[in-house]
Amino acid sequence: MATAGKVIKCRAAVAWEPSAPLMMEEIEVAPPQEGEIRIKVVATGVCHTDLYHLFEGKNKQGFPTVLGHEGAGVVESVGPGVTDFKPGDKVIPLFISQCGECRFCKCPKTNLCDRNWTSNNHNIMSDPITRLTCRGQPILQFMGTSTFSEYTVMNQIAVAKIHDDAPLDRVCLLGCGIATGYGAAVNTAGVTPGSVCAVFGLGAVGLAAVMGCKNAGASRIFAVDINEKKFEKAKIFGATDFLNPKAYNKPISEVLAEMTNGGVDFSLECVGNTEVMRSALESCVKGWGVSVMVGWTDVKDFSARPIQLISGKTWKGSLFGGFKSKDSVPKLVKDYMSGKIKLDEFITHNMSLEQVNDAINLMKTGECIRSILNISK
Ligand code: NAD
Ligand code: ZN
Repeated sequence: MATAGKVIKCRAAVAWEPSAPLMMEEIEVAPPQEGEIRIKVVATGVCHTDLYHLFEGKNKQGFPTVLGHEGAGVVESVGPGVTDFKPGDKVIPLFISQCGECRFCKCPKTNLCDRNWTSNNHNIMSDPITRLTCRGQPILQFMGTSTFSEYTVMNQIAVAKIHDDAPLDRVCLLGCGIATGYGAAVNTAGVTPGSVCAVFGLGAVGLAAVMGCKNAGASRIFAVDINEKKFEKAKIFGATDFLNPKAYNKPISEVLAEMTNGGVDFSLECVGNTEVMRSALESCVKGWGVSVMVGWTDVKDFSARPIQLISGKTWKGSLFGGFKSKDSVPKLVKDYMSGKIKLDEFITHNMSLEQVNDAINLMKTGECIRSILNISK
């Protein structure tokens, strides 16, 4: 590659400050250093966590940044010491690393690698180290990734090599939303055959959770959203019942309890709202109900009455669906290619990188499931 070892100048959408539109800029992407890989990004989804950082978290220390963490691309060049990747390999950047050596990677109970940005930098949602600069300033790599850019640099512990025939403009969704919702159901909740489930929030994450419940053999899946336009899609992924909490003059947990003889076996919160997290817990049956927080928020405390847990319910959280990233993403790509999981049905819009602010608005107004930004060929 003619670009190997050199700084690459390319286009990226930079978030200079909270709550402001992203700006198309020319950025510089440094060559990969020891153990690093420079990736040409081909396509990326837009996830609500990008919007969270921009409009809800709004931590000033987390800017300027290049958002985007649901991408797929091709290796452009590799740094010293990289032996498992070569230019041309198809890859998915991972916002959760898997070094394979830390005590968390060695433990089968978790996917939280200790070398990830999440270890110390929840507030800025980035590692302070970045390979991106613009107008002489370092630009943070959001969630360690930055896929709203033509190129990015990742440590090899946070890159999954995937099948050569994988369509990058679809499998990019496995870099976040779909793996997250699907895994939250099959791994974290551990949905069992014949069970009754409820999924709160029917964006891509929630719909993927519905798909997970269905694939795990749930007999009844309640799809809960305040936007009824989402119900049609939820049906495609296997939901059997549809509830709009705004249509009832009592709490949705009471409605569900009446419809299910006491509550659901499993509930998944895929909104990022602490009130909905509470409601999802309250919707579970006593004795064995399990509720999983999947929605992302870190600006508010959550609360619930202790009796909810004293009565035998379990409240859990899930990051990236509990999947050990490097091991699991290539398998999920194969599951898509063999028809075991759906991806195409999540995609409602195809756009260019220049249209990123339009894609953000579509999500803000609830008009999309996933918009794919096609970044390069
Ligand atoms: P989205 O915006 O596409 O979907 C959210 C859905 O929630 C929308 O359909 C909306 O109508 C619905 N909703 C809003 N308020 C509601 C309410 N009070 N009751 C019921 N439904 C309500 O978002 P997404 O991309 O699917 O992401 C969902 C959440 O998952 C976000 O919080 C995101 O940050 C989070 N997330 C978490 C992880 C993780 O690893 N834990 C990974 C990715 C995304
Ligand atoms: Zn995401």
